[in-house]
Amino acid sequence: MAKYHLHLAHLYGDLLNTYSDVGNIIALQYYAKQMDTDIDVKVVSIDNNFNPDEFDLALFGGGQDYEQLVVSKDLPNKHDAIDKFINEGKPFLAICGGYQLLGHYYIGADGKKIPGLGILDHYTLSQDNHRFIGNITIKNEESGQEYHGFENHNGRTFLGKGERPLGKVISGNGNNGEDQTEGAIYKNTYCSYFHGPILTRNGEIAKKILLAALEYKYPNADLSSQKALKIVPTF
Ligand code: GLN
Repeated sequence: MAKYHLHLAHLYGDLLNTYSDVGNIIALQYYAKQMDTDIDVKVVSIDNNFNPDEFDLALFGGGQDYEQLVVSKDLPNKHDAIDKFINEGKPFLAICGGYQLLGHYYIGADGKKIPGLGILDHYTLSQDNHRFIGNITIKNEESGQEYHGFENHNGRTFLGKGERPLGKVISGNGNNGEDQTEGAIYKNTYCSYFHGPILTRNGEIAKKILLAALEYKYPNADLSSQKALKIVPTF
C-alpha cells in the first residue's frame, strides 16, 4: 500500500487521445510509484458530472477536429468546475486539442470556429492545407530544462494574459511557427502540443505535476524524498 493516494480525472479520455496521450497517465503512475504514491483514474466524458473536489490532478488530451467539436458542445456544462479546479492551483495537463479548448476558440481546418472554455487567455487559428508535423525541442527559460516531443497540429496558438510559454523553441514549430513559443503554463496548468507522450519523454514535467498534487493534498507532509526523486532522461 502506498502512503499517498491521488485521484486523476481523464477528461473526455474516450474521445481525445491521439498519439497515445493516455501514455501520460502511465508515466504519472510510473513516477508516482517511486514517490510512494498511487493514482486511480476515472474518465469523465460527455454528460458525466465533473466534481473538481473529487480529483487531485487532471489530463485533457489531444484529438481530431471532429472529436473536438463534439467535446466543445459539452464543455459549457463543465466550465465552472474546470475553472475552479485550475484556479485553485490543482495540476492540470492539457495536450494539443485539449490545450486549444482551454482557450477562447479554435478555428478548425475547415475554417469553422470551435468555441473553447476561455479559462486560459489564448486563441487558436488554423493554417491552409498545412500542418506542423515533426520532432520538436524546447527550452524552459526558468529551469533551463530541455523538453523533447513530437508535434502534429493544424492549429496556431497565440498566448494571452497570465500565460507564459512552456518553453522557447530550439527546433520545430511550437505554438504558431512565428514567435518561438511552445505550450503554456498558468498556475499549475501545463499545456503543450507535444505528443510522444510528453511525460514519458520528459519526466521532469511529470515530477512537477506530481509534487504539485501532493503538496496541495497533503500540505503538512514531509515530501523531501519525493522532491529528491532523480529523473533519468528517456529521449
Ligand atoms: N485538431 C487539432 C489540430 O489539428 C489538434 C490536433 C491534436 O490534438 N493532435 O490542430
